[in-house]
Amino acid sequence: MTALPLVFDAPRRGMPPRHLADLTREEARAAVTELGQPAFRADQLARHYFRGITDPAEMTDVPAAARETLAEALLPGLLTVVRHQTADNGRTRKTLWRLHDGALVESVLMRYPDRATVCISSQAGCGMACPFCATGQAGLTRNLSAAEIIGQAVAAAAAMANGEIDGGPGRLSNVVFMGMGEPLANYARVRKTLDALLTPAPHGLGLSQRSVTVSTVGLVPAIRRLTEEGRNVTLAVSLHAPDDELRDTLVPINTRWKVGEVVDAADAYAKKTGRRYSVEYALIRDVNDQPFRADLLGKLLAGKLAHVNLIPLNPTPGSKWDASPLPAQREFVARLRAAGVATTVRDTRGQDIDGACGQLAASEDLGVPTVALPTPELEPTVPLGAEADEE
Ligand code: SAH
Repeated sequence: MTALPLVFDAPRRGMPPRHLADLTREEARAAVTELGQPAFRADQLARHYFRGITDPAEMTDVPAAARETLAEALLPGLLTVVRHQTADNGRTRKTLWRLHDGALVESVLMRYPDRATVCISSQAGCGMACPFCATGQAGLTRNLSAAEIIGQAVAAAAAMANGEIDGGPGRLSNVVFMGMGEPLANYARVRKTLDALLTPAPHGLGLSQRSVTVSTVGLVPAIRRLTEEGRNVTLAVSLHAPDDELRDTLVPINTRWKVGEVVDAADAYAKKTGRRYSVEYALIRDVNDQPFRADLLGKLLAGKLAHVNLIPLNPTPGSKWDASPLPAQREFVARLRAAGVATTVRDTRGQDIDGACGQLAASEDLGVPTVALPTPELEPTVPLGAEADEE
């Protein structure tokens, strides 16, 4: 397997036009006023948008003459469905989206008896280069705009409400940033997305803080920034190894921020929010699943406000790695629990449609990743977590 470089500076090219969902409520009202309309039309548009209405003709509380102008200026179609694929008896649906510049991303909606979760993408591709992850191997195409990220959640909420997923009409209850991309490498837009997810309807999706999970490879300055900003969503940290020697190879960002620093940052987050964080650990046969590593992980996390989520590795094309066999998984769980660490094993929803963790590659031909590395036209280099990634 060839080692890919870490990429922090997302190409600027390809960013989509401005959308209502990129704006604060005040900005949206100002934009509407500039178009010669009363400010309250911004609220009307937001109400339609968050309900998943995309056709201006359905916005009947807005005068017909104003609809087209407003929709054209503030509701450009940013996400086009290329295809849906379903699995798990119709309870899991993966959507491949085409963005305005042709870039492709995926989201996965999973319905359970007690909840419905959508897994959304925050970047087209990913620059973090984790060798076991299909997205990581495809490289970074570009950051998604806030509206491109929010739109995936809005579409999922509408699909649930409209009864598009087996089981009848329902409500989207959870959002996880576990699709393509490293959310904390696209910090400002992800933060805007959190605002939209948490703001009560009709100006947002009205989800609870605990039901939104941001999963990160471990960008320590950005975790600290999230801690200060008090969004209080659930944090998941992709650890995958308890020791720096192995983590340096599995999660290359570890060469910058070590296991101890990542765990310290997550602890500080838990202390501030009073909420447990998740430690994600993909169990890879004979790579990170040895009993001694379970003990090391147990020692690292004992007494902390953490919960380990073990993910038997999902196969990705061309990878030599495999999931840990069941006995090794069981032994790993038993050792962690013996150390007093809450541990669960994640189910593998969507595996047969390449929709499980780490399998999202956004290819139009099944199985062949088509996300090409762009000719870089780089945004100015900024330290991660700095304000400069604001639009
Ligand atoms: N960039 C974020 C989101 C990534 S996807 C992050 O790193 O946390 C969500 C989880 O799936 C991460 O923990 C990621 O490491 C894990 N993952 C990636 N590839 C996987 C694979 N092939 N099998 C199982 N889990 C995988």
